[in-house]
Amino acid sequence: MSDSTSYDSWSTRFEGPPPLNSGMTVVADYLEEVFTEIRYPTAPGWAESPPTRRLMKGITESHLYPWNVVVPELRRRLVQKFKMASSTDSDVTYEGIPVLTEAFSGLSYGFAPLCPFKQKFASTSSFSKVTIESDCRSWDCEKCGKEQADRLFRAVTNVTLGTEELYVAEAQWSPKLMNMMFRRNQRVGAEYFWYRDAFDKVTFVSTRPLPGNKDPMVWRKMDRDEALTYIAAAVLWVPGHHDHGWTAGWRPLKPAKFVSDLISLHGFSEYQTALLFDTFRTEAMRLFDIEIELGTPPEERQGELAHLLIDIAAGIRSGDISAG
Ligand SMILES: [Zn+2]
Repeated sequence: MSDSTSYDSWSTRFEGPPPLNSGMTVVADYLEEVFTEIRYPTAPGWAESPPTRRLMKGITESHLYPWNVVVPELRRRLVQKFKMASSTDSDVTYEGIPVLTEAFSGLSYGFAPLCPFKQKFASTSSFSKVTIESDCRSWDCEKCGKEQADRLFRAVTNVTLGTEELYVAEAQWSPKLMNMMFRRNQRVGAEYFWYRDAFDKVTFVSTRPLPGNKDPMVWRKMDRDEALTYIAAAVLWVPGHHDHGWTAGWRPLKPAKFVSDLISLHGFSEYQTALLFDTFRTEAMRLFDIEIELGTPPEERQGELAHLLIDIAAGIRSGDISAG
């Protein structure tokens, strides 16, 4: 990459990038400083404009930090700043969840997830490449984040149907918090939902109080409507999602796996995709005497050809099939 030398020059004003194993907080501190310096330079000669996604990704990866791991932490810090600076929420979702529009505008300078994004597949019925555009379903995407929050709110609404009262409590997240709550609940047998926001505040919504001598200590009894209103208005603000979870009895069922005739080519290079179809055409001719280019192969051969395509794709993915 010819760009990597110019990326190095960004970091010369600092003591140097922290090593890979310094932990996310240290790496994010460093990158925040680098990106802020590009936007608001202390020395003359730099343009005052937000760095692009391409530039930030390039700098991040030139230090071997994985962008996909770093970027959620950078987004979270940005969202925190906007949330603290904002006194009112500018919009609400369909279900009435507050939306911090300014935070999405802030994220749009290089930090927003790519949405919709294109996914490549190989079809086992047409034996050709298929590209499908999908929503990113990220909580930090303005479109998908609102939908995710509404979906989660409806899941909480559904699972609490028939429950007259709920107990709500808060605690600051720590690595041991969830284990502690699991142990508390072994004696009580409650069902609960938890939601961790961008500030690491964890809200528990439970069928029974789960007190202890550490936070969450105070469990507020609310009737269901009151609790749902509170969750929408004060807990699920967008884009403030970090993580959430459920006890086993409340966990929504995963939607049935979608069965299709598509093999994912996620991560395949152009070369590997071409290799897949070249190898497939050659093998179809060699094994079955079928010329794929001539159009739809005989129906009785479809199954064997589908398996052949699947096997070749797996072979390319594992590296067993490479140069032709
Ligand atoms: Zn999206």
